[in-house]
Amino acid sequence: MKLKYERELIVEFGKKLLESGLTKGTGGNLSLYDAESGLCAISPSGIDYYEVQSQNVVLIDLEGTQVEGEGKPSSEMSMHTIFYKNRDDVRSVIHTHSPFATTLACLNWDMPAHHYIVALAGPDVRCAPYETFATEELAKAAFDYAIDRKAVFLQNHGMLACGGSVEEAFYIAEEIEFTAEVYWRSRVVGQPTVLAGEEVVKLTQKFKGYAPLTDRRSR
Ligand code: 13P
Ligand code: ZN
Repeated sequence: MKLKYERELIVEFGKKLLESGLTKGTGGNLSLYDAESGLCAISPSGIDYYEVQSQNVVLIDLEGTQVEGEGKPSSEMSMHTIFYKNRDDVRSVIHTHSPFATTLACLNWDMPAHHYIVALAGPDVRCAPYETFATEELAKAAFDYAIDRKAVFLQNHGMLACGGSVEEAFYIAEEIEFTAEVYWRSRVVGQPTVLAGEEVVKLTQKFKGYAPLTDRRSR
């Protein structure tokens, strides 16, 4: 079986997506890219994360051709492969339907750096314009609005987080969901203060090498 370790990570982090409340049912999807083989391990489409086993995890190349795996690849595979084709810093993509990020996405709001943790993902999190799920148009919108960032909201849909490892992508998804909740709560009662641009630059530097952002094999 090719990419056994990566497939096992898809199984493990798929369950974590449900357990952490980052998604519900079969919503969302996740993938890992192995640059050496040029293959991507991606969650199967429409299968409960608790039922996914490593043999159901699908291996595709960056053109979307299925190489191995019993399932059908996620219907959002283009939204994953576009990052691997165009960004050397991205080795994992996680798409969620988490409630607070999705709330902001349904409002079509961007999220500024109202909390220092936002700097994990970029100076802010932008909301990509609505496109139908599982289309090349959605993949392109997600990619364009995530430029120079590690998270993006998808209007009327959800969130996408990415990183150099699945540990990093998951950590960013969880933390951006937390900051989306705080932002929404703050906006309910007032206008949150936003950190200055130079402070956000400083924070970005400070986050480099922070443990949850590294592949666990390199810790
Ligand atoms: P898949 O089950 O095909 O991955 O789709 C879930 C989803 O979130 C579509 O946007
Ligand atoms: Zn979705």
